[in-house]
Formats: sequence, C-alpha cells, structure tokens
Amino acid sequence: MTTKSAAAAARATVYGYPRQGANRELKKAVEGYWKGRVTATELRATAAELRRATWHRLAETGLHEVPTGDFSYYDHVLDATVMVGAIPDRHRAAVAADPLDGYFAMARGTQEVAPLEMTKWFDTNYHYLVPELGPDTVFTADSAKQVAELTEARTLGLSARPVLVGPVTYLLLAKPAPGVPADFEPLTLLDRLLPVYAEILADLRAAGADWAQLDEPALVQDRTPAELHAAERAYRGLGALTDRPKLLVASYFDRLGEALPVLAKAPVEGLALDFTEAAAQNLDALAAVGGLPGKRLVAGVVNGRNIWVNDLEKSLATLGTLLGLADRVDVSASCSLLHVPLDAAAERDIDPQILRWLAFAEQKTAEIATLAKGLTLGTDAIAAELSANRADLASRAGSPLTHDPAVRARAAAVTGADARRSQPYAERTAAQRARLGLPLLPTTTIGSFPQTGELRTARADLRAGRIDTAGYEERIKAEIREVIGFQEKAGLDVLVHGEAERNDMVQYFAEQLTGYLATRHGWVQSYGTRYVRPPILAGDISRPGPMTVRWTSYAQSLTDRPVKGMLTGPVTMLAWSFVRDDQPLGDTARQVALALRDEVNDLELAGTSVIQVDEPALRETLPLRAAERPGYLDWATEAFRLSTCGVRPDTQIHTHMCYAEFGDIVRAIDDLDADVISLEAARSHMQVARELAAHGYPREAGPGVYDIHSPRVPSAEEAAGLLRTGLGAIPAERLWVNPDCGLKTRGWPETRESLENLVTAARTVRKEL
Ligand code: GLN
Ligand code: ZN
Repeated sequence: MTTKSAAAAARATVYGYPRQGANRELKKAVEGYWKGRVTATELRATAAELRRATWHRLAETGLHEVPTGDFSYYDHVLDATVMVGAIPDRHRAAVAADPLDGYFAMARGTQEVAPLEMTKWFDTNYHYLVPELGPDTVFTADSAKQVAELTEARTLGLSARPVLVGPVTYLLLAKPAPGVPADFEPLTLLDRLLPVYAEILADLRAAGADWAQLDEPALVQDRTPAELHAAERAYRGLGALTDRPKLLVASYFDRLGEALPVLAKAPVEGLALDFTEAAAQNLDALAAVGGLPGKRLVAGVVNGRNIWVNDLEKSLATLGTLLGLADRVDVSASCSLLHVPLDAAAERDIDPQILRWLAFAEQKTAEIATLAKGLTLGTDAIAAELSANRADLASRAGSPLTHDPAVRARAAAVTGADARRSQPYAERTAAQRARLGLPLLPTTTIGSFPQTGELRTARADLRAGRIDTAGYEERIKAEIREVIGFQEKAGLDVLVHGEAERNDMVQYFAEQLTGYLATRHGWVQSYGTRYVRPPILAGDISRPGPMTVRWTSYAQSLTDRPVKGMLTGPVTMLAWSFVRDDQPLGDTARQVALALRDEVNDLELAGTSVIQVDEPALRETLPLRAAERPGYLDWATEAFRLSTCGVRPDTQIHTHMCYAEFGDIVRAIDDLDADVISLEAARSHMQVARELAAHGYPREAGPGVYDIHSPRVPSAEEAAGLLRTGLGAIPAERLWVNPDCGLKTRGWPETRESLENLVTAARTVRKEL
C-alpha cells in the first residue's frame, strides 16, 4: 500500500504521559514529602525534572507537539478542581494556609477532614477524586499550574499544547457536595463554570498557547438530549471567545456517537477521536456529518490503554481514509498514555521475541511518530519500520503461545450444559445443607486475613534468595495454622486458609497460568501514589497444574470444620490485566474460565465442600455504552458459570463482590447461579439485602456486617442490629454473616476482636429466631 503525501504535514502528539518516572521517582518524592523526609522545594524540583525529561524524550522520539498540564502530584481531576476553585468548604482553610498540603488533604484526608471520594476514571483502572459541587459553589479561575507547565515546556523550545479536563466532563463527573440534596445536578452550574474556563484560556493564550485541548471523555457515554445541549452551549460559548488559543476537543475510550454532530458543528478548531476499538463507528459518523471541513482532526489510532504493538499498515489505512474527511489529520494515541507502563525495553525477563509484540508508552510514542512521518512523506519513508512491524505481527499471530490447539479445541467444544449446574438451586441447597450441617446464620469471612509485615518479609526473603522455597512454605504454613486456630477458637462456621501466600489476587494466579506474562517494571498509576503492575494475557490460557489445592488442603487437614477454597473469577482476572486485542474478550474469558474450572474441580476432588470465586470486577467492567452491556454480561456470566458449574450439587459455590450499588447488574448476579453471594453492606445499613429481596434474589446472601475499610471494631450489638435489619429482607435460612470484604489490609488485633463480635452477634440473633 502506498499513501500519497498529505497536503499539510501530519503532526505527532499525545494527550498525556505516565507521570511517575522510570524509577517511580514521583511516588518516592510524594510519599517522602508526606513523611517529612522530602521538602516541598525538593518535591517541586523532582516533579519539574520529571516533566522536563518526559518532554525531552517525547520530542526526541519525534512528537511535534507535547502535552502540558497533564502532570499531577496526585490526580488530574483534583487539579481541575483546584483550577476552577471548587475547593470543598471543609478544605478551604487548609488550602489557603498551604496550597500543597491542602491539595494532599483533599486527596487523602487528615485526622479531622475527610478526603474527596475516589472513583474509577471511566472503564479504566485509574481512580480520580470526585468533585463536590452544590448550588452555592462559586468557581474562581486559578490557571497557575497550567500556565507554569506550559511556560516550562515552551522555555525548552518545544511546541506545547495544554491539556485540561473539559467543562462538561468536569461537571458530569462531579457529585452533590455533602449536605446538598442528592438530586442536585452539577451540570446546572455550566453557565457559572464557562467564564472561569474563558479566563483560563485567555491566560494560556497570553502565555503563548497556540492550541489548548479540552478533554470530554464523558461525551462518549450515553447522554441525554439535555446533556448534549449543554455540550453544544459550552462549545458555542467557548468558541465565541476572541481571546483564546485554538480549541481541540478530545474524546476517547469509545465512539462519540450523538455528541459527534454537536462537536462537529461547534465553533472549535479541532476534534480528537478514538480510532481504535470505536474506529468503524467514528468513521461512519464522521462521514455522515460530512467530515470536519476547516478543522483539525487528531486521530487516536494507537491504542493508549493496551500494550500491544500497533498494526501500522492498518493505522495508515485509517489515516488515509481520514485525510478525505478533515482539513488536516494529526496522529496520536486513542487516550492519554497514563494507562500503560513506561517502557517495554526495561523488561529483561520477557523473551525478546515476545517483547517485540509489546508497546508501552515509550514504544507507542515511536509508533505515533512513525505514522505521522508515513502520513506526511508516504510509506517509502517508513519502509523499514513497516517491515519490522509486519514481522512482529506475524510472529505474534503465528506463535504457539497465542495458538495452543488443545486450549482452542477445548474452548470450541464447550456446550451450554458445561455452564449449568446439574441441579437447580432448590435441590442443590438441600444436598449442601445435609453435607455441611451448618447452623442458621452461618458465619464466615471473605478470604484474606491480615497480610502482616512478616509475610511480606518472607516473600522478599524468598525473592532475594535469603530463604529457599521450603523455608518460605514453612512460614506460610505457620500462618495458616495461626489463622485456622483463631477461627476455630472464635467459633466461625466456614473457615478460610487466609490467602497468606498471595501477593495479589490476580497476579498470584497469572503467575501460575500458561499464556500470562508478568512484568517487572510495568507500573501503571491506580490512584495517587499507588501503582499496580497488571499482568498481560498474552496467549492461550492453560493451567499446568493445581494452583491453590495444597494450601486449602493443608488448612482443611487442621480442622473438622469446612474450609472454603478461594479463587479469583475469570472476569476479574481479565479486568485487572492487559487483555489480548486479537480475539474477542469473551474468548479470552472462556479460556481463563476453563483453567479455573479445573482448579475448582480439583479443589472438590481434594474434599473441599465450599468454594468461593471472587468477582469484584464484574460491575466495573460494564461497557460505557448501555447498548453493549447485555453482550458483555452474557459472556461474563457464562465465564463465571463455566468455572463453577463442574461441581457436584452438594458442593457449595460462593461468590463475592465489593460494592453496595449493584442495581444495574442484579440480573447478572442472578445469572451467576452461585449458591451464596457476599457483598459490602455495613456502611449502607444492609441496603443490598433490601435490593436483593426487591429483585426476588432466590439464593443465599451475606451482606457484610463489618466495615473492613476502617480499623474501627464493630460491637456485637451493632453487628446484631445489622443482622436483624438483614433478616427484615432475607429469611434466616438464606442469610449469612460475614465482613464486607477480605481482611488483608487490617491488623490482627482489630480483626480478632471484630470477628469475635461478629460470631457473638450471630449467636445472639440465632436465639431470637
Ligand atoms: N478473597 C479476596 C480477599 O478476601 C477478595 C478480595 C476482593 O474482593 N477484592 O482478599
Ligand atoms: Zn471485596
């Protein structure tokens, strides 16, 4: 394929970049500052140096325009809150006294003041701090950070484009401040917010910004006509300003849909669209509005949230089509590169052949630069890159890792019956009751017990070779003995082994499954200074051998009470990993489910009578657009059932989810066909129990009576009160007694006391039945 050169030179750019630095310098500096070991001046200097190094690297790799303002000490939405002066009242004094400390107080809270709430940034694993707004909110412009960072980049001689959270998205992500009626709609503040954006844009223009980017990812979600109208008004208003940079309105994570005609007509100079997963729909919609004559189109053709090399020829073809639809086409990633690790070249443990399939932020930047060059100069100018790319794609497509005939044959042979229990719930439950002999209101926990410093030390000792595998396993066994001993003494009915051997509920399994890759340096920001290293679902998934059976069996050998086996479900395994892009997600889920099914069956064979398969990510993986949700829920629930339905009727399957609001997936929860579900409920006073009842949920449930997010110990009376509330919704035959979630983040003293109180509460309430 040959692409003729474009009229204008295509520019290469990105919307944002990982903030942490190659050695997570930012995390160290920020946490050091919190501990008083790093001064504010040192922290600022580290941050400035990281920004400088990043911009320098981006320019060196071939980007024509670098983003500014995307850097953050903690979170870019919190930065937007500061930028528009929407500081919650309870934080005003602290922010006035010391902006940096006040900023961190909003992010993390202090002894006296609660932080802002944190929630997931669309369907990524990044978490932002939720703006709190009300009818009395007064916005004031504070462009200092944006202007300073723009100036820094310009001083380096770079062409820089400030990136801001757009006003519509900012309001749509906000929630009513404490004390404000829950039905308050932050979007009603738009007219008050726009003048503040106008002021900031004028400041940026004065500081030399030619372009400014306003991010509006909220417009890729289903929006009401009123919300679309607000977007129309916002950009008509901002577009009409005379003292401003050119405006690039950016969308990502999905298709722009109904918002595309709105923005195409708006008096702004550019649009950025996602041409990865939503490529076909965005292309059709662009064609339908007659393209973007006179506008700049920034085409996100490189996936900004996955780690696979780009198919350069395919991207060039897309870019070629787009040339006919806009005045000027530039090249970018589909979204900020914040969501991928920094540099694949740092991964020394991954087979060099396989490493060539991977593109982290650094490699993606090079791909973007290559594509822009190809678009401008024609494919001959990037012939070497194209041929290397073709070879890498072929190596991936033809690899035995990505195509294991045995795994594929097994997945293809799955029948509907494999994903159904052999007996309906009503019959199974009788068999389970007979086998388990549990009292009414049985007590249990969610799986993990405190991950103590000694356990982490043992893992570090093993990695560093200070102890051998046998020594490590002895330490884990000692912990299991302790955990079982405690639970017996406390009087819990269904015990757990405590998950001492698990570093993380996904990574632990990923490390043992064939087809999964682990990274050493693949850190991605989850929130604030917390970074995770998601494993990579790289190939066909199989289980070489049992993963958890010996720990569960060892625990069971120590007690006569049932010990619950504990696994992470297929949807959560996908949600907290980088997924394959060369097959539908449902196919990957099915492979993982079959591997887990073998583990479930092996646990059963080893005598385990209760097995829990956790799916805390079932809800967060819901597609952004409602139209795609039923399809997702179909494969997601099928994968769960596939992993759990191979057992006998008298083996009890539990599942667990960590949240209280599940209204939109209550049907799906039913479709899991688990015998028992535990959910978070302590803070919402058993609201979930009422919701389950309202939906006619027919099986057993354990709404949590112990809030594990706080070190606070619930008294026996308090837990009993919650149980009585639960009994108002769920009959005693179907109600379980458990904490909200696992105890791995808690200390032993509070765990002991809380669980003893939980057992006392169950005993008290049983007597009242
Ligand atoms: N079994 C896990 C634990 O107890 C569940 C954790 C979770 O739901 N996130 O730690
Ligand atoms: Zn949980």
